Amino acid sequence: MKTNIFTSAILVVAISFQGVFAQKPRVTVLATGGTIAGAGTQSTSSAYQAAQLPIDNLLNAVPEIHNIATLKGEQISQVGSQDMSIDIWLKLAKRIQELFDQNLTDAVVITHGTDTQEETAYFLNLVLKTAKPVILVGAMRSSTAISADGPRNLFNAVTVAVDTASMGKGVLVVMNDKIISARDVTKTHTTAVETFKGGGFGPVGCVEDGQVFFNYDITKKHTSATAFDIRKINALPKVEIVYGYADASPIAIQALMKNKVAGIIVAGVGNGNFNKALGEQIKLATKAGVSVVRASRVGSGRVSLNVEVNDTEFGTLVSEDLNPQKARILLMLGLSQNMSREDLQKLFFTY
Ligand code: GLU
Repeated sequence: MKTNIFTSAILVVAISFQGVFAQKPRVTVLATGGTIAGAGTQSTSSAYQAAQLPIDNLLNAVPEIHNIATLKGEQISQVGSQDMSIDIWLKLAKRIQELFDQNLTDAVVITHGTDTQEETAYFLNLVLKTAKPVILVGAMRSSTAISADGPRNLFNAVTVAVDTASMGKGVLVVMNDKIISARDVTKTHTTAVETFKGGGFGPVGCVEDGQVFFNYDITKKHTSATAFDIRKINALPKVEIVYGYADASPIAIQALMKNKVAGIIVAGVGNGNFNKALGEQIKLATKAGVSVVRASRVGSGRVSLNVEVNDTEFGTLVSEDLNPQKARILLMLGLSQNMSREDLQKLFFTY
């Protein structure tokens, strides 16, 4: 008799497990706006307005995604991503964390404009505490254009989201059949569909015919392995970017100092260099306690500590190979934790 009850119990557990495994993965699609939700009046024209279509229209436009996932949509914002803001980042990241903490979803896909997609991706990569897949996706052509790329990109994004191989890889961007780490991804062309590249290191994988292929792993720390937890972050200090060029004047840095920024990223020339006029202002800024990080306007390669520029003399830090807009995010997060100069520099070598 005992054996019978035991056997039945095992059977019940096995059946319910089968039931669980038979279910499609739950994917929450968080919409923020952008071209993927854009619409125009002429299919042959590239004139359109970003951030028009609500999330349900996006989900219904690609029936195939309903075959591979149980989808839920939520509208977080409806902006062209040139208007992406820290407030929206905080709202988005907190919502994702809540969805995972309460086990309301197995993966998250975020639809996003492409202009600042890399910044949102890197922010989430640093503050989310999860191993579950978080995928950003967008489109270069609006929903009404000939050969709109949004539907395929969305299908690919959901395909990557439901693949268990995507677990623990940090936040990923899926665009034009490529899978690129949030750490490396950057927009490189103003209008082409093949615009997102993985910095100096390329994509980590690709999606082909509904199949996911990962070739590389990201070694930089992300998500659960970082010092930043979105559950404890409610604001970020002010950090601005100053661009370097021939005969740059000190006006921009002077204005930033007057406006009491906590940090400045210098998008320097070459190996993060600046001219004498900027150098003088930078010394004044670091002496006044403002954190100044040297990055480069070049687009690839590392900025070297104490090589061409004496960072000890200027009080500056280097961004490693983070581009200026991503260096800004890491500096804001580091400053939000009141880190020392040494610890801030370590962040740039680690994340
Ligand atoms: N500028 C808009 C944005 O970033 C449209 C560009 C796009 O999504 O590709 O949202």
